[in-house]
Amino acid sequence: VKISKSYKLASRDFHPEDTIIDIRGVKIGGENLVIMGGPCAVESPEQIDEIARLVKASGGQVLRGGAFKPRTGPYSFQGVGVEGLTMMAEAGKRHGLLTITEVMTPEYVDICAEHADILQVGTRNMQNFDLLRKLGTCGRPVLLKRGFSATYDELLNAAEYILAGGNRDVMLCERGIRTFETYTRNTLDLSAIPVLQNLSHLPVISDPSHGTGRRELVAPMAKASVAAGANGLIIEMHTDPDNSMTGDGVQSLFPEQFDNLLRDLEKLAPLV
Ligand code: PEP
Ligand code: MN
Repeated sequence: VKISKSYKLASRDFHPEDTIIDIRGVKIGGENLVIMGGPCAVESPEQIDEIARLVKASGGQVLRGGAFKPRTGPYSFQGVGVEGLTMMAEAGKRHGLLTITEVMTPEYVDICAEHADILQVGTRNMQNFDLLRKLGTCGRPVLLKRGFSATYDELLNAAEYILAGGNRDVMLCERGIRTFETYTRNTLDLSAIPVLQNLSHLPVISDPSHGTGRRELVAPMAKASVAAGANGLIIEMHTDPDNSMTGDGVQSLFPEQFDNLLRDLEKLAPLV
């Protein structure tokens, strides 16, 4: 694939070897598969603790959960905020998991970096350039989600902002793009995985939860992502999806489905 390259540090020409991000012994990139699992949103200490226990028991390495939620409408639940960061950090520590959470504004980068091991940039903020610049000096690895209408070139240029600030620990995330199809919430662009790995040395993580928006499609698209070469998966799982506080319950796996999926994935690639 030949596209105009205005990015450099993100490019495989510049850095031929795969980047491996080592977070307290968990190595992301290369041959191993990293599994990040958890709810869309942190809801309560009990909720996140129980889900952390289940993620760990199934063999996941990273606990996901949003304390700050980017919602389409202003009256929807916006996340529990700073308290959620503490709840998540405690659950992660108790169960021996790394944590990942979304940060939406530059002002909140420091506090999120204080509490979480990985900072997530959501699809709606992929080109929030002030946020990206701030993440360049945050001292934490960043998972950068592809904007739902962004090209590969735009995604790699967004990564370049973070890299250029001095932070070399960036993961790219395919989380589905907007197409004419309405059956699925987004169309998970599987081609993004090999294309991005060809153009860039950065680890590529797939998000089949937001990429489909439908629980029954998460496992098949997770397996397809691994077959396409993904370095990891970020998957929503909830103990009570029907009563979750965001609309993402419909795409959240039940704990048993999450566990079954990890057993299947183990056959395709070694979990980290
Ligand atoms: C999420 O991970 O819960 C999320 C809001 O993701 P995205 O930015 O991909 O919609
Ligand atoms: Mn979600």
